[in-house]
Amino acid sequence: MTELKLRDYQESILTETRKMFKHYYKRPLVVLPCGAGKTVVFAYMAAQSQAKGLTVWFLVHRRELLDQTVETFQKFNIPLNSIHIGMVGTYANHPERYPKPDFIIFDEAHFSMAATWQKLIDLYPNAFMVGLTATPCRLDGRPLGSTYDCMVIGITTKELIQQGYLSEYRYFAPSVADLSSLKRKGSDFDTESAAELLMQRAVYGDIIENYRKYADGLQTICYCSSIKHSEAMAEEFQNAGINAVHFDGNTKTSDRKQIVQDFRDKKIQILCNVDLISVGFDVPDCWCCILLRPTMSTALAIQQAGRALRPQPGKTAIILDHVGNYTRHGLPDTDREWSLESKIKPPSQYQQDGTLSVKQCEECYFTFLPGPDVCPNCGAEIKKTRQEIENIKKIRMEEIKESNRQRAAESVQHKDISDCHTMYEIMAWCKQNGKKPGFGYYYAKKKGLIAS
Ligand SMILES: [Zn+2]
Repeated sequence: MTELKLRDYQESILTETRKMFKHYYKRPLVVLPCGAGKTVVFAYMAAQSQAKGLTVWFLVHRRELLDQTVETFQKFNIPLNSIHIGMVGTYANHPERYPKPDFIIFDEAHFSMAATWQKLIDLYPNAFMVGLTATPCRLDGRPLGSTYDCMVIGITTKELIQQGYLSEYRYFAPSVADLSSLKRKGSDFDTESAAELLMQRAVYGDIIENYRKYADGLQTICYCSSIKHSEAMAEEFQNAGINAVHFDGNTKTSDRKQIVQDFRDKKIQILCNVDLISVGFDVPDCWCCILLRPTMSTALAIQQAGRALRPQPGKTAIILDHVGNYTRHGLPDTDREWSLESKIKPPSQYQQDGTLSVKQCEECYFTFLPGPDVCPNCGAEIKKTRQEIENIKKIRMEEIKESNRQRAAESVQHKDISDCHTMYEIMAWCKQNGKKPGFGYYYAKKKGLIAS
């Protein structure tokens, strides 16, 4: 039995959530990265609500999570008197079986189905609700604004790594196949077409070689594009003398348990799968992720790579991205803007100074957030790409033009403000004649030079 003591950032997310309730919001979506301990935080909140005599439903989307959640409550000795832990589906289909809730907590809110959520809101309009997630949008990219009424954003992945709550990582992104002809299907890439491009002898060879080079012997989860692809990849690893196993949603539960146990015991090195994140699977700790499923979904990319970051003593996770997901979604600790109203915005490819937001070393494929001019992994010089050089030139030109315009305006000596024809001239006139900028703006508006 362990005493439940929250970390500082966990305390503050609870305070922020309570604040939202005080400000008359009823359904906040709480965003905390994978590994921040969302379940613990809200188990704590559930316990407090129970102590006040409230009835709490703590609902999860996957059977595996149910056991883990119950374990969390047991571990911290939180009695389940008026706290009910269950599956979203069961509770939404048979709400009459359970005492009426005052407070509903949804774990893994990125799986929230609008219809289920709406049904519960209609049934219990006075209940408070909270959704928890690391990626505040559905995996298919749709926003969650119709489901939640405000957002509470907690600590970032970068900060969790800095504070040691997530492991450091090294990200390598050698490309192994030309994916430029990749087809689209709906809002994402066509996984069958991706699998086709990746199921080639040379590609298998490169992937195995890279695993040996960067992550040899490490416990690894390998995300593939299709079941056939995943099975074939596992076989290729096997042929190379590396114990890999494929599994999917159809793998029998007893087999899955055995696979996880063998993985934990290091009898299996690599777990190949397609969609382990949605099939309902208690993902064991791994030290390496291999990404072989190109995706347009930032949520999926974050969830996949995030599985490698659970901390362990001495651990530096290795992420091998062979499908360029970093170019679309940044790195696991890229700062992001979340919104309830729109899809997750991919981080912009270039920074304001025209240089790339994510850098890659040409020598070793180490991929990192900008900073040093040499590769932090191998020391090679990081050369600017042609596009970067062009961007920088363009920005520099704009700056020169801008300062020329200003200088030209300042050199003009108008007697009266009515002689000024541009905003620059007006502002220069104000400066020369001791008028405040506000005066210039007022005049410019009146003249229709700027929008009022
Ligand atoms: Zn390098």
